[in-house]
Amino acid sequence: MIKVGISSCLIGHKVRYDGGHKASDFCQNDLNEFVEYLPLCPEIGIGLPIPRPSIRLEGLENGTTRALITKTGEDITSKLRDFADVRKHQLSELSGYVLCAKSPSCGLERVRLYTPGEKDNRKAGVGIFAQRLKELEPALPMEEDGRLNDPHLRENFVLRLFVYSEWKALPQPLKKKGVLAFHTRQKLLLLAHNQPEYRALGKRLGELEQLNESFAQDYIVQVMNALAKPASKANHTNVLQHVQGYFKTNLSTAEREALAQLILEYRAGLEPLSAPLTLFKHYLKLYPKDYLTGQSYFQPYPQSLRLRYGL
Ligand code: SF4
Repeated sequence: MIKVGISSCLIGHKVRYDGGHKASDFCQNDLNEFVEYLPLCPEIGIGLPIPRPSIRLEGLENGTTRALITKTGEDITSKLRDFADVRKHQLSELSGYVLCAKSPSCGLERVRLYTPGEKDNRKAGVGIFAQRLKELEPALPMEEDGRLNDPHLRENFVLRLFVYSEWKALPQPLKKKGVLAFHTRQKLLLLAHNQPEYRALGKRLGELEQLNESFAQDYIVQVMNALAKPASKANHTNVLQHVQGYFKTNLSTAEREALAQLILEYRAGLEPLSAPLTLFKHYLKLYPKDYLTGQSYFQPYPQSLRLRYGL
């Protein structure tokens, strides 16, 4: 089962400062079927009570951030970072992480960041635990609960989650052959998400003589960053037209024209991405092609998540 870290309050644990939770419908009722959650609440983990006084993030002049208990002024930055450090091994087993937005501990972006001693703030902070998590696991797909309500961001996160879980499942120690096979499976996905990175990654792998740990780590960070860029309609169209070329000897003129028309209708927003993809999957059954059949692009995650219907 794919392991996913999650802020405990997002799966209904009543651990928030006010004794409540912030259950995420998608995490609790959809994604849960395919993943095993590791729920963590950093604030409870460092011994704070429920309910508890508010915490605020302060941005210091040297560019660092600290977390204080507003009422007492106690600095809990190190405790929150240590909470991540002592779980380093557990965190390294995860394929994704869903974090609770706006929290001074878990928020991934736009957390209120105060000027020390002042009331003025700007939405520019990152929660202390989330920041440490990013440092420890730079390739790990992460997303906030609120952003998962956007169909494009939700699809992108789940896609990265499944690609990363595939990477984590490669036999260890990593072998060049395994990495190349993994890369080959992601080629069309990379092409759809980020053409310059698709080319750069292909070049890096083409020049690779011997695989070592540092190359593998840099490679997967680059892949995950490339996939984090949303796939545009223009890029999907490019990929679909590229795939169409594989069937030119199999299809009749009328079939080719209908397929080309469907791709253009997707491009124009008249059909969802799932329409041409369904037709391609049908043609792949009739006219199997090893390279295409192996591409995660056609089925990057379970279809029952229904993530491509709105794209
Ligand atoms: Fe705990 Fe993080 Fe949820 Fe706050 S946002 S209650 S720290 S899990």
